[in-house]
Amino acid sequence: IAKIYTDKDASLDALKGKKIAVLGYGNQGRAWALNMKDSGLNIVVGLERQGKSWEKATKDGFKPVKTEDAVKDADVIIFLIPDMVQRTVWLEKVRPNMKKGADLVFAHGFNIHFKMIEPPTDSDVYMVAPKGPGDTVREYYVAGGGVPVLVATYQDVSGKALEKALAIAKGIGATRSGALVSSFKEETETDLVGEQTILVGGIMELMKSAFETLVEMGYQPEVAYFETINEVKMIVDIIHSKGLSGMLRAVSDTAKYGGITVGKKVINEDVRKRIREAAERVRSGEFAAEWVEEYNKGMPVVINGLKENDNSLEQKVADELRELIERGKPKK
Ligand code: NDP
Ligand code: MG
Ligand code: MG
Repeated sequence: IAKIYTDKDASLDALKGKKIAVLGYGNQGRAWALNMKDSGLNIVVGLERQGKSWEKATKDGFKPVKTEDAVKDADVIIFLIPDMVQRTVWLEKVRPNMKKGADLVFAHGFNIHFKMIEPPTDSDVYMVAPKGPGDTVREYYVAGGGVPVLVATYQDVSGKALEKALAIAKGIGATRSGALVSSFKEETETDLVGEQTILVGGIMELMKSAFETLVEMGYQPEVAYFETINEVKMIVDIIHSKGLSGMLRAVSDTAKYGGITVGKKVINEDVRKRIREAAERVRSGEFAAEWVEEYNKGMPVVINGLKENDNSLEQKVADELRELIERGKPKK
């Protein structure tokens, strides 16, 4: 059974007064910097260039500095820049300028697990990985809650790496929910398998398959969109709060029977086999190597995939129905 820490087990003391450099001010960077500052920690935002992030951080009350200046006397260095950028920034800006023995902290284990960053042996290396998008990390914190995280240690020179990971988890509000102890290997591999087979890839292709099939059969695209894409959120919200059994109890008996019998035929053993194959490719490092190559080529496959979706019938219907859908949502 997993070890889970909550607010009462975590203290900010391990990091009080220390200088914490947050590298990047994007999805997670903004949320972490603001939450930790509001929790009373000493934050400096480090950025590579005077762009959008620089402006945003300044507007939010930070005085961003160049990466090399942020890490110079930092006790803790947190990597919240894109995974594919971290190796270069590490080699060119962080390693040459960091204080000996400073902590290296990650929100995802990719670069450490796949050995793209080889940390010095005298640094504590640990991870706080939010299980939700950055905007939600900020939104929940402001509302008095927190998004759960996985915490893990890779190098524990001081003997205090876990304590410090929990201090960060507390600083971003996560221990109000829970910090579950994992490892760099487990977090990295499950995160990749999750986003490929369900969260991003699986759900998107399942929605598209159902939508396009209904349209091919002559049903109106708008009706197909409501049924196969829009309503997913409502069902997932019930699963989110009550689990799968709670969801089954909330739908009609007809839906229960149809779901229980037909679901297994659509998502059959063959699908499980391919989920397994995807997971094995992640585990072996084959996916990581392929992704690094794609990134270095300028992400042609990603750009093409985005374009395809932008031009899809699904997206046209989404744009057409947006106003109607937003109009019906409960007012805050
Ligand atoms: P983002 O893509 O939002 O990071 C953008 C930030 O990185 C911006 O401040 C941007 O600055 C800077 N940046 C972009 N390109 C470069 C570059 N070439 N050199 C230097 N800085 C650059 O990152 P995320 O927040 O999505 O991810 C950060 C980490 O958090 C990753 O390890 C990710 O796996 C992890 N994570 C992310 C989650 C998410 O929901 N997004 C969830 C859990 C973990 P500028 O504006 O100047 O371009
Ligand atoms: Mg994830
Ligand atoms: Mg991920």
